Parts: sequence; structure tokens; C-alpha cells
Amino acid sequence: MSEGLTQAAYIVAALFFILSLAGLSKQESARTGNYFGIAGMAIALIATIFGPDAQGIAWIIVAMVIGGGIGIYYAKRVEMTEMPELVAVLHSFVGLAAVLVGYNSFIDPPAVNLANPAEIHAAHVIHMVEVFLGVFIGAVTFTGSIVAFGKLRGIISSSALNIPHKHKWNLAAILVSTALMIYFVKADGSMFALIVMTLIAFAFGCHLVASIGGADMPVVVSMLNSYSGWAAAAAGFMLANDLLIVTGALVGSSGAILSYIMCKAMNRSFISVIAGGFGQTVSVSSDGEEEGEHREVSAEDVAEMLKDSRSVIITPGYGMAVAQAQYPVHEITEKLRAKGIDVRFGIHPVAGRLPGHMNVLLAEAKVPYDIVLEMDEINDDFPETDTVLVIGANDTVNPAAMEDPNSPIAGMPVLEVWNAKNVIVFKRSMNTGYAGVQNPLFFKENTAMLFGDAKASVDAISKAI
Ligand code: NDP
Repeated sequence: MSEGLTQAAYIVAALFFILSLAGLSKQESARTGNYFGIAGMAIALIATIFGPDAQGIAWIIVAMVIGGGIGIYYAKRVEMTEMPELVAVLHSFVGLAAVLVGYNSFIDPPAVNLANPAEIHAAHVIHMVEVFLGVFIGAVTFTGSIVAFGKLRGIISSSALNIPHKHKWNLAAILVSTALMIYFVKADGSMFALIVMTLIAFAFGCHLVASIGGADMPVVVSMLNSYSGWAAAAAGFMLANDLLIVTGALVGSSGAILSYIMCKAMNRSFISVIAGGFGQTVSVSSDGEEEGEHREVSAEDVAEMLKDSRSVIITPGYGMAVAQAQYPVHEITEKLRAKGIDVRFGIHPVAGRLPGHMNVLLAEAKVPYDIVLEMDEINDDFPETDTVLVIGANDTVNPAAMEDPNSPIAGMPVLEVWNAKNVIVFKRSMNTGYAGVQNPLFFKENTAMLFGDAKASVDAISKAI
């Protein structure tokens, strides 16, 4: 493939990626968005493998078959509830790839086709800075994503790590790395400086993510998504691959925008979250202990209550994903709507374990999009609602976020379900949610608990209706 044809293919691929992002921004067009992304990536791969710069095609194909095989195997096996962990692992691969490309590019720098010695020197200095920054961003993304994986999987505690003087440690890591970069460039490359910086960046990435607490994890996931984009863009600069630069920048900036939107939705300062809780003085007063008496209800009673209601709001959470209860939830929605009852869904921006997690599950079960509303669109409607079904949600419906300034989730806007006439909470026990704080909603007078696996409970209600 000629250089011109490769560049033309890159432009087409970049356009497909932009169309893909545009499609993914709405549920109705998300599937088409995915197809655009797949087409763009296929064009990008073909143009790169058969482009003028590619060498050792046989090796590339062997690596692709092995990598593709592992990818298909895991993508087929992974449960919907494990998607966030999978995404975190994939981000760590991008980070590690940027580190390896950086070392490779330092050991075996690309040839420079310039006649002017001053230009050759400038190009060399730029390349040194690219290598250093690329390795730094990649290393932070790599270890940060591994810690995020551990937190999402429950291997590492979800609460924020608070080592003494943590912000000073972060600042020191950045200052020492900057000094090492200056030395690296001045010394015309130094393997020692590169290795020391890589170790510092590995530790910095671990600490940055470990310092971020439970309810702020959604922002971490989207932030690491953004970092992985910048790491890919850095690799693009090192490899002089325009498409990798464009794609990395698209992922980096869309991840940054998503992080900003999540911070706004959760009433958190962007800087405070990305700097590992910088400036936050929240003291953890609340814990997992129970705080009163709760009332229990049976599936048959809930079915009667639903039949007597004129308006119903369903607020799903992570437990609906665990139970895979979206299908029976759709079933009861249709049965109630057929009886003329107004049924809508209220989705909290951080419900589940992935941005848009609940929307994906409900779309999978074919719940109509027009009855699935965002938190801001539905929060004022709870006082006029007869029955709210809280299906596997906990932190996202916790009034402590508004009532207890010392709660770890203080200030986070929540679905104000307790304002409805009746609230039914579907869960298996009185255990806490992801943030590890007890929920005063369970002890309110208008709340009743329906214990058991959410799918079994919703199935039983569906039968009784
Ligand atoms: P939570 O994680 O707060 O609570 C889920 C509840 O579901 C638990 O209390 C659990 O109670 C219940 N549950 C689990 N399995 C089942 C089951 N099979 N049947 C019935 N109930 C079940 O969920 P939310 O969605 O309300 O909140 C999400 C939390 O996750 C927030 O703190 C958010 O910050 C965090 N997070 C979100 C991310 C995102 O991007 N959306 C990413 C990372 C973290 P029990 O064990 O008693 O059944």
C-alpha cells in the first residue's frame, strides 16, 4: 500500500471514529456507533499492517492471532457485572504498551530525514521529550488501572487510602520526574533516568487511584479511560503514526469530558478527585452498622400494591446487574403498563459499576428508551409517585448523602425515592452498598424490604400480577 493510500485510509478511519463517538452518545444510535468504531478500526489495522512502514508482517499476524484469540475468549466469557474490571484491565494494557513503545523508541530511535543540523537537533530533543512523557503517562495508566481493577473486583478495599502527607508525596513524584526529564534531555538520553522515572510513575499511578474513595470510583474509571487515550496518543507521537495520535486524542478528550460530567453529576470538584481527594476534609463517621428497625414485605403484597398504584418509578442499581433481573423487570413493566399504570425508570449517573451500566442492561431487555429518565429529569416527580421499586440500588438512593455532612458520600446527589408514598427495597440482606455506609432509607416508615435475589423477587411479583 502506498504512503498516499495509507494516509487516505487513516483519514477515513479517523472520520469513522468521530462518527462512532457521536453514535455512542445516545442509546438509540449506540449500536450504529459501535459498527462505525469496528469499521474504523478494521480500516486502521489494514492500512497500518500493509502500509509502507510495516516490517515483519508474519510476526504481526502471529501476534494478532494470539491477541485476538485471547480477546475473543475473554469477551465471550465475561459476565456483564465484570465489564468494569475488563475495561480497567484493557486500560492497563494501553498504558503498558505506551511504556514498551517508549523504551523501544529510546533504544532504537527512528531515522531522521533532515539535512539541516539544527533541525536534526530539534527533532531529537522533541523525540526525547515524547519518549519521557509517553513512558510517564503509560506507567501511571498501567498501575492506576491495575489498582482500579483490584478495587472493582473487591480484592483491594474500596475506601480511600490516606497515607500521611499524601498530596506532598504526589507533588514530590511530579517534581522529581520533571527534574529527571530535564536531565534526560540534557544528557542526550539516560537509561538510568528513564528507569527511575518509570518506577516513580508506577508508584504514583498506584497511589493516585488508591487515594480515591468508594463513591468517587466512577470518576476514576472514566479518568483512566482518558489517561489511556493520552498514553495511546503519546505512543502515536513516538511511532510517528498520525492515526494513533488522532485516536488517542479522541479517547483522551472524550474520557476527560465524561470525567467532568460525572464530577458535576456527583457534586465533586474535578481537581479534588483527580488529585486523590485533594482538598476534601470529609471524616468517615458512618459505618455499616444498622441504625433502626426495618419492615419486611412479601412479593404478593408488593404485587397488590403495584396493582393499586397509578404511578410507579423503578430505580435499578448494581444488584439488578448481579441478579440479571432486567428481563423480569421489563416483564412487570409491560404488565403494569397494560393495566394503564404509569411506569418509568430513574437512572442515577453512577448506578452500577460503569457509566451507563443500567441503560445498557435495560436496553438489552428491550425496555423502551422514552420511559428511562435521568436522575435530574425524575427527581422532582417522587412526591407524586405511589410506589418506588428500588431494585438492587443502595448508595444511589441513600439519604445520608444529603442529610449527614460527615458521610463519605456527603454532597453526592441521589434519587430522592423516600419522597414517594411507598418504597420497596429489593436486596438480599441489610448489607451496605459499594461505599460501605448504612442506608437510613431502609428504616423509614414508608419503606419496606423485600429480601432475596432480585430476579427471584421480581419473577414472583410478575406471577402474582
Ligand atoms: P450499590 O453498589 O451501592 O449497592 C448494590 C446493592 O445491591 C447492595 O446493597 C446489595 O445488597 C444488592 N445486591 C447485590 N446483589 C444482589 C442480588 N443478586 N439481588 C438483590 N440485591 C442484590 O449500588 P448502586 O448502583 O446504588 O451504587 C453504585 C455504587 O458503585 C456507587 O457507590 C458508585 O459510586 C460505585 N461505582 C460506580 C461506578 C460507575 O461507573 N457506575 C464505578 C465504580 C463504582 P445485598 O448484598 O444485601 O443483596
